[in-house]
Amino acid sequence: MEAPNPIKEQHFRRGIMRWFRENRRQFPWRKESLSPYEVLIAEIMLQQTRAERVKEVYPKFIKRYPGWRELAEADIKEIEDSIRSLGLHRKRARGLKKLAVSVMRSGAKSFHNLDDLTALPSVGIYMGRSVLVNCYGEPEAMLDVNMDRVLERYFGPRRLADIRHDKQLNDLARRLVNKEAPREYNWAIMDFASLVCKSRNPNCSGCPISRFCNYYAG
Ligand code: SF4
Repeated sequence: MEAPNPIKEQHFRRGIMRWFRENRRQFPWRKESLSPYEVLIAEIMLQQTRAERVKEVYPKFIKRYPGWRELAEADIKEIEDSIRSLGLHRKRARGLKKLAVSVMRSGAKSFHNLDDLTALPSVGIYMGRSVLVNCYGEPEAMLDVNMDRVLERYFGPRRLADIRHDKQLNDLARRLVNKEAPREYNWAIMDFASLVCKSRNPNCSGCPISRFCNYYAG
């Protein structure tokens, strides 16, 4: 990964945000005021599952189980039935219930702290950061394989195999966050990675930020 280049980073950040204003996708878990519950349920559903499928299930699930208490007290078979169409429904239902029970037992302590969040069952660093960004507007980068792909193509390959431990990559991802609009910035990268800088056949000829892209320059 190349040395920090403020002009290139600004071009990237501005280009992504401009593209997002015209091309953003709408999802029921993208709102100004989301609770940690709503964010974590969405993230668990989105694991290894396309957003378009989750979009069908998520609103009904939130209506049926509107909070931690309702989910903690729910029958596991009924939880499984309500998420069956997503696949992995047994594993996911167990994870959801375990998380809800844990939150209820711990007295729903602070969700505004990454260590507290990642101490919860099923909650890793990415999901913890998602809560910080989506619920509290913290300037964190929701770095996952998709964000990593875009950044590596644009700024060069990372050094370490595990994206969680690559300091240079994590520093870059954090530096790039639009501090005025961290939610929208993270959503923008997700949509851009899904619609333009796709894992296979990225649409480089139609890409609005190709000018400084390492991958495009070959
Ligand atoms: Fe991705 Fe291609 Fe755009 Fe580079 S030019 S950011 S590889 S779509």
